[in-house]
Parts: sequence; C-alpha cells; structure tokens
Amino acid sequence: KELVMRRLERLSLIGSMAAGIAHEIRNPMTTVRGFLQLNMSKLASERDKEIFRLMIAELDRANEIITNFLALGKDCSLPKQTKNLNQVIMELYPLIQADALNSHMNISLDLGDIAEININENEIKQLILNLVRNGLEAMDQPGEVKIITYMKNNQVILAVRDQGKGIKKEMLYMLGTPFFTTKAEGTGLGLATCYSIADRHNATIEVTSDEQGTTFYVLFPL
Ligand code: ADP
Ligand code: MG
Repeated sequence: KELVMRRLERLSLIGSMAAGIAHEIRNPMTTVRGFLQLNMSKLASERDKEIFRLMIAELDRANEIITNFLALGKDCSLPKQTKNLNQVIMELYPLIQADALNSHMNISLDLGDIAEININENEIKQLILNLVRNGLEAMDQPGEVKIITYMKNNQVILAVRDQGKGIKKEMLYMLGTPFFTTKAEGTGLGLATCYSIADRHNATIEVTSDEQGTTFYVLFPL
C-alpha cells in the first residue's frame, strides 16, 4: 500500500474578507431555515413536507460548505480542551449514523483505550465528519465505514476506513488541495479543511488506499 504524508501549506489567498462575507451569509440563511422549519409543521400534504425537508437539507449543505471554508482560512489556533477522542466520536455518532442511513451504508466503531489530548472539539468533529462523509461517498455498493482509535508510539491515532474503490496512486498528491474534487457535486473543501485542522493540532494525516478501500489516519502527538 502507498503511504503518503502531507501537511497543508497555509492559504494566504483565502483572506479575512472572504471569511467575513462567508460569515455574513450565514445570518440570512439561519432566518430562512427558521421560517421553513416553523411552516413545515403547518403543511398538510406529505409532498409539500418533503419539499420543505429538501430545502432545509440544502441549506444545511450550504452551511457545511461555509463551515469548511471558514476552517480553511483560519491561521491561528482556537481554544483547546483536554478531552478523550472517543467521547467526541460518541457525541458525533448520531449525526454520522444518520448520514450512513441516508446513503444505505453502515458505520462501525472500534474505540480503543486512548489518552486524553488537547483539542478544539468543534474542529475535530468537523474533521471526523469530513473523513466519514468521504468514506460513505466512496462506496457505490453497500459497505461499511469504520472509525478506529488506538495508541501507537505515544500518539493517539484516529483511523477512518472505508470499503470504497480507493484513490488512484497518481491522485494521492492532490489530496488536500483546496477545490480538488472528482465528484460531480463535490466542493473539494473537505480534505483541505481536514489538513488545516490537523495542522492546528500538530497532527499529521496519512493515507493508505487500494481497490478494496481507503484508510485515513490522523496522528495526534501527546
Ligand atoms: P469532495 O468530497 O467535495 O470531493 P474532499 O476534499 O473531501 O472534497 O475530497 C477530495 C477528493 O479526494 C474527492 O473528490 C475524492 O476524489 C478523493 N477522496 C477523498 N476521500 C476519499 C476516500 N475515502 N475514498 C476515495 N476517494 C477519496
Ligand atoms: Mg468530501
């Protein structure tokens, strides 16, 4: 298997202005989402309800893109707390489970006995979510994404393994480049955000991949 280690170089092109605009777009979106939610319960027809659900889901998707975009542009560390990664994963689990259910895939956990580390919880949740979603999207027949944690060489390791079609060798070096995507509906912001977040935690990301699947490893130093 091919092993690749990369660290994102800071993106000076994504300035504070773009980040400010992204932030401002969120307020009207939140208002619209609130109205949709409020009026959905008043609807009689199932068909109309489904349309409202779709609108809310699309707003959430747009919001996710903004979240990634903002995380990418950050160049200073956010406040961190000492926490066990397993606990963060468990808190995120309902959301991940819902994603898996939507795409008719399975999620399994193999959480080991790991040390607490200093993390910004929101950022680490975003990182895990991005890796899991990529795993789910990589499989075109029913399969499983496995989240694994363990200790190795005084590091806490988080691994996300899928049973997808893998990443071509010649594509590996492109991973983490903002806007690089092979998906019709992709943004190419997910992995770039992961590398940026890992960077702010002094963590490194490694990838192994073949036709049977891909595993992303995030290595957190103690
Ligand atoms: P997006 O998911 O929007 O395409 P990402 O930055 O999350 O953007 O991923 C960039 C690209 O890396 C994907 O389009 C895909 O080609 C590749 N990739 C990432 N994760 C995986 C994976 N688990 N299996 C296969 N390919 C992957
Ligand atoms: Mg993605």
